[in-house]
Amino acid sequence: MSTAVSLLEHTYADAVPGLVANWTAAPAPHPSPLVVNDDLAVELGLDPRQLRESGLLTGTVGEGVQPVAMVYSGHQFGMYQPRLGDGRALLLGEIVDPQGRRHDLHLKGSGRTPFARGGDGKAALGPMLREYLMGEAMHALGVPTSRGLAVSTTGEDVPRDTGLLPGAVLARVASSHIRVGTFQYAAANGGPDVVRALADHAIARHHPEATGYLDFYRRVVHAQAELIARWMLVGFIHGVMNTDNTTISGETIDYGPCAFMDRYDPQTVFSSIDHAGRYAYSHQPPIARWNLARLGEALLPLIDENQDAAIEQATAVVQEFGDVYERHFQAGMAAKLGLREPDPDLVADLLALLHAQQVDWTGFFRAEDPRDLFLDREAYDAWAARWHPELDRDSRNGVNPVYVPRNHLVDEALTAAEGGDLGPVQEILEVVSRPFTVQPGRERYTEPGTGPFVTYCGT
Ligand code: AMP
Ligand code: MG
Ligand code: MG
Repeated sequence: MSTAVSLLEHTYADAVPGLVANWTAAPAPHPSPLVVNDDLAVELGLDPRQLRESGLLTGTVGEGVQPVAMVYSGHQFGMYQPRLGDGRALLLGEIVDPQGRRHDLHLKGSGRTPFARGGDGKAALGPMLREYLMGEAMHALGVPTSRGLAVSTTGEDVPRDTGLLPGAVLARVASSHIRVGTFQYAAANGGPDVVRALADHAIARHHPEATGYLDFYRRVVHAQAELIARWMLVGFIHGVMNTDNTTISGETIDYGPCAFMDRYDPQTVFSSIDHAGRYAYSHQPPIARWNLARLGEALLPLIDENQDAAIEQATAVVQEFGDVYERHFQAGMAAKLGLREPDPDLVADLLALLHAQQVDWTGFFRAEDPRDLFLDREAYDAWAARWHPELDRDSRNGVNPVYVPRNHLVDEALTAAEGGDLGPVQEILEVVSRPFTVQPGRERYTEPGTGPFVTYCGT
């Protein structure tokens, strides 16, 4: 424990003391690490065996280490909530890895904090395993993301709508947990000096090349545009794109009712709490842009003393989102289709065809003969006559996964885990950790589910 704990730093709490509350984890009655990410531990410079025994994974820290709960606000489904924050989460501290990169070590499900409002501060095993699994899948697909370091059971049951569920704590690692909502809170409650301190910290940590606050804003807009393009290319639906779940780093965080789309349909929604489909697959780019406009508002006082001038400059920056997104999305689609140059018309017609024919998104790009996937083969032939891949199969296979965590299989595996059988979760983890490599005997992981699906926002 001493090695891991002595590595914890607190530059965030030092930079913005008004945005944290000192807090400690609620002790778990029988903490036990269930899944530990040995590879990630080693990347961080931690000894996996020591880590398992240290208690750190459920919040036991030694003398002189002060975990904090971070405060933020945010728009949830478009409605402003003035005070959210880590209601059941804690920032244990920051770890600088052997390559010199700084990471947050964060717990989820570690008990109520001053920001818990009505919640019990706890987490159930299924949703924590889902977050771990989805993060590993995204990481293996090359999408910037937080990652699970471990899921530990607490030995305590937690009451949820469906009854008593096994309780768990997720230990996760992200390049930071600074959110658009953190800036919204700072602007609403701290004023320009706090926003400046937060921005200076975020610049040093994530966008050190920024030449000023407007350029910082531009870099966040561009990082998010690239991130969302990557989500769209792999068929990922976050499910809860509130401003408090939108990072400054450009990493994916806060996996709740998220899923990968099977059959291509732009209106796909999985989240049981997203009744209006606000965060449907195809809404993700405009929603991200909307969230980034909220960041721009929070940064206005830093951008220009003259508010009208600040608004004009920030507006011009947020308007770059569309072009940057489109550039990344079209470049990614060109790679998936084996084209040397983007071809937006070919892509638009493909998307219309996949939608009309309800073709599996992931399966289409890896199919031996995609024609087999279409009911109306003539419609496919008409499109395919215009498709002339210039890159060989190998290079296309390097960007088109065979495996994504199929929602129906994830649900099945999480149910098994709640019943005490971790086998299916471990198998999915193995499958999605090598997504580009055909794994014999694992054909079922390439099949779409038969939907419609809802991912319950179990917590
Ligand atoms: P989320 O929807 O997971 O992004 O969470 C939204 C807000 O609700 C955050 O401020 C969380 O910390 C808080 N929250 C979610 N579940 C709980 C819980 N069981 N206890 C306390 N706070 C929670
Ligand atoms: Mg959240
Ligand atoms: Mg439809």
